[in-house]
Amino acid sequence: MSSILIVEDEIHLAELMRAYLEREGYKILVASDGQAGLVVFREKRPSLVLLDLMLPGMDGWEFCRQVRLGSRTPIIMLTALTSEEDKLRGLEIGADDYITKPFSPRELVARVRAVLRRTSPEDECSPVVSMAELSIDYAKRAVNIGGIAVDLTVKEFDLLWALIRHPGQVFSRQQLLDSVWGYEFFGDSRTVDTHIKKLRQKLELVGRYSYVQTVWGVGYKFEVRDNA
Ligand code: CA
Repeated sequence: MSSILIVEDEIHLAELMRAYLEREGYKILVASDGQAGLVVFREKRPSLVLLDLMLPGMDGWEFCRQVRLGSRTPIIMLTALTSEEDKLRGLEIGADDYITKPFSPRELVARVRAVLRRTSPEDECSPVVSMAELSIDYAKRAVNIGGIAVDLTVKEFDLLWALIRHPGQVFSRQQLLDSVWGYEFFGDSRTVDTHIKKLRQKLELVGRYSYVQTVWGVGYKFEVRDNA
């Protein structure tokens, strides 16, 4: 049975969500601020987090950042804010989806199901990783953006996989050569640049976001940004 942590300071809303989701067979945990949420998260390891952004003390963004330091557990933001900027900020720091308040019970349940379906527990050997619109199924070596399949070469896929496993972490060209091409490869680091360029072209053709960022003088990292 999947357990869901609701981090929400509006107690009435939290209890409503609990009722809807329990009816669907989920086990529900509730915390009313970010700090308490983190304690419950670390102790109970829920399958998914429903996260209000406007919380007393530690806000939802900080909660999300803290969780993402060591976990890929899916997070759905609950926001009264309809601004694109706030949604984007949430997706950038690693939230998987968002629901704008007010929402219907049906929408809540549908989003929860969809996110749980496209993500899987961290310890599974064939994980599916999702970030913003991007979803990668390692076992099938399938990549899609907003449901549209993206056709990558073996090296492009391996590069993307190496980067997305550690969002925000900067990899040097040499590290990427070592992990993707292997230690026996004696080509030069421009090989990495060439493949990254092609990978980006393919990813940015389809979606609203860019995913692979250059860190000047160092290398590359995985980070979701607006593809403006
Ligand atoms: Ca709130």
